Amino acid sequence: MSVTQNLSELKKTIPDHVTLIAVSKTKPIPLIQEAYDFGHRDFGENKVQELVQKREALPKDIRWHMIGHLQTNKVKYILPFIHLIHGVDSLKLLKEINKRSNNINRVTSVLLQIHVAEEGTKFGFDYKEILDLVAEDYFVNFNKISIKGFMGMATNTEDENKIRREFRQLSNFFNEMKPHFSNEFDTLSMGMSGDYNIAMEEASTMVRVGSKVFGARNYS
Ligand SMILES: *Cc1c(COP(=O)(O)O)cnc(C)c1O
Repeated sequence: MSVTQNLSELKKTIPDHVTLIAVSKTKPIPLIQEAYDFGHRDFGENKVQELVQKREALPKDIRWHMIGHLQTNKVKYILPFIHLIHGVDSLKLLKEINKRSNNINRVTSVLLQIHVAEEGTKFGFDYKEILDLVAEDYFVNFNKISIKGFMGMATNTEDENKIRREFRQLSNFFNEMKPHFSNEFDTLSMGMSGDYNIAMEEASTMVRVGSKVFGARNYS
């Protein structure tokens, strides 16, 4: 199967109100160009250096999404162009993004990463942390950040009920928290190649799909 075929099959199963991020990490530029030529514009990467290199080589109207863990010392390299940072997982990172965004006078769009999986990644805020921060109006302090919503990853498991439970919990929390953020808070990024259907059933608005678009990766 080609990237074009994969994308057109995938788009049949993804409704218009859900944004498909084609996760191109580790994949070569010609494959991304193929997806671009097919009309796709949203791409996700998880390493700053790779993201910057690909951005330089590819058309400038691509919307680049930083989906991986972002180190504070690398924020400055992607801020001038990044469309959305999905993995904001600490206050230190949030502060750095705000500071650097002020320096270049640009508002940066971010998602707060929520730690939902019982196993797997250690990154992200706990529900309780977000509740506490919201209670003290903490998130209004960032004049150069637009908090667009949440991102979460379910446990990497065959147990679909467990995946669904985790997505449903995040989805409910997202709706609960909505009134406490600005009206730009409308994005729930959840779902990858193996679980995006369950995620969409649980009201995801953005799915991050890699191997189903570009084929399996040798490393991630
Ligand atoms: C790699 C990655 C994806 C895509 O994974 P696939 O299983 O290939 O679809 C999605 N989200 C994040 C955060 C990733 O690191």
